[in-house]
Amino acid sequence: MRDWGSVKPRDPEELLARLLTAPGRRDRITHVERVPARAGRQAAWPDWVPDVLVERLRAAGVERPWAHQVAAAEHARAGRSVVISTGTASGKSLAYLLPCLTAVLEGAAAAQGRGATVLYLAPTKALAADQLRAIRSLELPGVRAATFDGDTPTEERDWIRAHAQYVLTNPDMLHRTLLPGHGRWAPFLRALKYVVVDECHTYRGVFGSHVAHVLRRLRRGCARYGGSPVFVLASATVSDPGASAARLVGVPVVEVTEDASPRGETAFVLWEPPLTDLLGEQGAPVRRTVTAESADLLADLLAEGIRTVVFVRSRRGAEVIALLARQALDEAEPGLGARVAAYRAGYLPEERRELERALHSGELLGLASTSALELGVDVSGLDAVVLAGYPGTRASMWQQAGRAGRAGQGALAVLVARDDPLDTYLVRHPEALFGQPVEATVLDPDNPYVLAPHLCAAAAELPLTPADLPLFGSAAEQVLPALEQRGLLRRRPTGWYWTRQDRASDLTDIRGVGGAVIRVVELGTGRLLGTVAPAAAHSTVHEGAVYLHQGESYLVRALDLDEAVALVEPAQPDYSTTAREITDIRILQTERSTRWGEAALCFGTVEVTSQVVSFLRKRLLTGEVLGEEPLDLPPRHLRTRAVWWTISFDQVAAAGVARADLPGAAHAAEHASIGLLPLFATCDRWDIGGVSTALHQDTGLPTVFVYDGHPGGAGFAERAYSSARPWLTATREAIESCACLDGCPSCIQSPKCGNGNNPLDKTGAVRLLTALLAVAPSG
Ligand SMILES: [Zn+2]
Ligand SMILES: [Zn+2]
Repeated sequence: MRDWGSVKPRDPEELLARLLTAPGRRDRITHVERVPARAGRQAAWPDWVPDVLVERLRAAGVERPWAHQVAAAEHARAGRSVVISTGTASGKSLAYLLPCLTAVLEGAAAAQGRGATVLYLAPTKALAADQLRAIRSLELPGVRAATFDGDTPTEERDWIRAHAQYVLTNPDMLHRTLLPGHGRWAPFLRALKYVVVDECHTYRGVFGSHVAHVLRRLRRGCARYGGSPVFVLASATVSDPGASAARLVGVPVVEVTEDASPRGETAFVLWEPPLTDLLGEQGAPVRRTVTAESADLLADLLAEGIRTVVFVRSRRGAEVIALLARQALDEAEPGLGARVAAYRAGYLPEERRELERALHSGELLGLASTSALELGVDVSGLDAVVLAGYPGTRASMWQQAGRAGRAGQGALAVLVARDDPLDTYLVRHPEALFGQPVEATVLDPDNPYVLAPHLCAAAAELPLTPADLPLFGSAAEQVLPALEQRGLLRRRPTGWYWTRQDRASDLTDIRGVGGAVIRVVELGTGRLLGTVAPAAAHSTVHEGAVYLHQGESYLVRALDLDEAVALVEPAQPDYSTTAREITDIRILQTERSTRWGEAALCFGTVEVTSQVVSFLRKRLLTGEVLGEEPLDLPPRHLRTRAVWWTISFDQVAAAGVARADLPGAAHAAEHASIGLLPLFATCDRWDIGGVSTALHQDTGLPTVFVYDGHPGGAGFAERAYSSARPWLTATREAIESCACLDGCPSCIQSPKCGNGNNPLDKTGAVRLLTALLAVAPSG
């Protein structure tokens, strides 16, 4: 067997050259970005860090800290809340471990050894378990750290409350257990000096808004016992991390963004799979799938002894890529295929450790993985990373690409475009990826649907007083009367009280959006596989849908809406399904608007009525459309926020768009703009929806709407409103620069269009957007 473990460090050009040996490959490269190497900058250990801690960190391999770690640690030590926002593997954890462990060590002399306590929050249990392992490995005398999550046994919980100084948990536990039972945590909360919010960029959209209120409740709980913790947040590189962090925790936050860790040179390649002979919907040309293309690249890199991970969005996709690469490698050299694996979320810590070990030793050469790997497995030290499709944000893109490069050595990153408008735009506009700061983390704590249950939970924890309201934002005052009317809160002279028997924290699931969830149950065994949010149920667990759970695929046999249950059966279909829905929209209130000449751009509250009407089956490997089947589901109503633009009939005529072509032009512009919005807001195209019409009943004009797919909104439409000009400019360019003739999935076709992608007018859309942007105020 070849010994991959001793492969020499490589330079990125050599890595790239290896990839291009197969014929026809060079034409698929649309751009190569050379990201230069960066020398590291170290700093001295702060003099307030106890010797024992320095010693143990040195023993663990940290000779001296990097400058950014010390900068963030100094802010925290001085009592300023701080966010450190730097690249993957830049050692963000040391920035909070220094002040936090120092405080705990200093407090160890106090009564019960708890002069200071630390609360660490991670988005996943796995990450908290890793942190605990790291802290325990330092073997610091007198430091008692423990994870506190759903798996923690009762006896252990009692011990943790009474003795632990460093508690590692997640926002869900804070919401359901720790805050409702704050009385029992009083000594811990009174001594609470630091709250660490790790991977804080994951708290975005509706989930981020929930977490923002959980943290406000935590601050209120601490204040009750005289505590006022400093927040230390760690984030992937995002734009404006200080402002996002401040919105999340509700206090001013200083930012540290200059990464002083060393990095090797990276060749970042943008890759567009070739067009195939297959025909898609409306006869549109179809590109080779990202799955097939990425599997080829993985196999070729591995055959050259280049350690590689492929990041894939879906677990099923990861498995298919691993399988294809395995087959190709076994053909080249029997036995080689065994050195590729698929990785997904849900592994036990021991399994993840084993995987890390096998990767580091070289037993395992390559992985196809969901982004689960971003949280919790250390795979630094790879030579190459393949991104099977744009991961949705520049922040994630850099985070994933940052996995390549061993100890300052050269690395290769390849972004393979999916057949959709956003990916196609990006591989053809490298400046949108490399010349731009990463995007901001979007959340909206003022969403009344999110706020309301937290006001109830807060009142149940401690009666709410008028003095508390500013903590929960300007919307609190408007939401309270409705909660009184619904009998959820009772107003007394001293404030608002929760007087019901049930638990207020059960009113909301912070990872969902409220309402009765649909249970997914396995036929035959009756096993509960998971739950689906009500808003997503019609489109994800309708009859005939392919449902993915923990890497296994199932077919939905029946969806019973009255019983709120979907019945599924294990199956291995070679296709995926996409639901299609038709939508109608009414404007309830226009909250903001800007005149763009005769056109207008608006933001406000809308009522969306949508109905899933059918679903498409598409072959997994080729993307070929196998057929469309009708569905009989009732319409649903959603009150949410939207951005919309109108244009006058004179403008339409002047733009050279005939009245008959207007519906197709507006429709095409709508699809493409939904596809491009994730470039500006940290959303997924599935988090948002759109409606276009040549004549809308509320505006009396041609109108294109894009709305948040969650009740009350999640901040995405608001973000679209504030970045309308660059967003719509990118939309126009994406359509204009697509090589197809009349529109394709890479530009104006949408996989979830309820109208079968008809009518769509590519030229008309470009003309419409050009006319609109011509009158847009700059800046
Ligand atoms: Zn196209
Ligand atoms: Zn459509």
